[in-house]
Amino acid sequence: MGKADLHTHTNASDGDCSAEFLLKRAKKKGLRTLAITDHDTIRGYLKAVDIADEVGIQLIPGVEISCQWNSREVHILAYNFDVNDEGIVTLMRRQSMARKSRMRAIVKKLQEQGVDLEYEEVQAEAYGGNIGRPHAAQVLMKKQYVRSFPEAFIRYLGKPEIKGIETDYASIDDVISTVKDANGVLSVAHPGPVYTDTEIEDLLSTGLDGIECIHPSHNFDKQKKYTEMARSAQLLVTGGSDYHGRSKSEYDPFFGTVTLGEQHVEALLRTSENRKRTRKKID
Ligand code: AMP
Ligand code: ZN
Ligand code: FE
Ligand code: FE
Repeated sequence: MGKADLHTHTNASDGDCSAEFLLKRAKKKGLRTLAITDHDTIRGYLKAVDIADEVGIQLIPGVEISCQWNSREVHILAYNFDVNDEGIVTLMRRQSMARKSRMRAIVKKLQEQGVDLEYEEVQAEAYGGNIGRPHAAQVLMKKQYVRSFPEAFIRYLGKPEIKGIETDYASIDDVISTVKDANGVLSVAHPGPVYTDTEIEDLLSTGLDGIECIHPSHNFDKQKKYTEMARSAQLLVTGGSDYHGRSKSEYDPFFGTVTLGEQHVEALLRTSENRKRTRKKID
């Protein structure tokens, strides 16, 4: 049976690799289906569409959206939406702008703490991709403020005063309605390290379609628990390796091994297709 990875990042956000490199690596690892889920941008996906055909990989539109829920930031994975939909395009633009303003605020905070850092240096590290804290971490390493990537988060970027910076990300309700209007489906990303079970129940009640049960941060028990949760609530099971490449994440070895069964991909595509059919009837 074919294997899928529905959670990967390219250099359109904070991944190391181009879409082309990722697709070729996916093929080598024997994957049949891939979703590029860059942070708040579909540019990586758009670059990959033609290459996926050449390489022979089924590529599903995807994105990992940072949004606001109960005054906290949550990551929602969206799949198989219409990438030309106006609502989606507008949402991506808003999210990119929110990321830029947030990075300016992060840089200012770090400057106040005596760190010699400019926004332009972080921007240069993003190579035109959607800017994020991993790019700032790279600069902090280059300038020898820290010796390793995790240390940059421990000493600077993961501190409450940085994490607490208010960001103009869309609300979860806006994200859900925009993605559903574009016939997409939504899944809560990597719940294991982030939420209590009660929080997941609350989060799911906002109208999400699935749970990312399979993720490198989930041990077997967690994977089983979330899969059971999804089954009993008749929700989709999603999963992937959260691949970022080597330099910014310890998940690299899981690419090609933390995978999702093809039956879950089929269920996801069916949900999206049904949404499309129902909407057509309403129109
Ligand atoms: P941002 O999108 O700017 O909030 O940055 C979030 C990204 O930073 C995540 O997707 C991870 O790739 C990375 N990240 C977050 N926390 C850590 C951490 N403690 N150590 C290493 N990488 C992290
Ligand atoms: Zn990331
Ligand atoms: Fe995430
Ligand atoms: Fe991710």
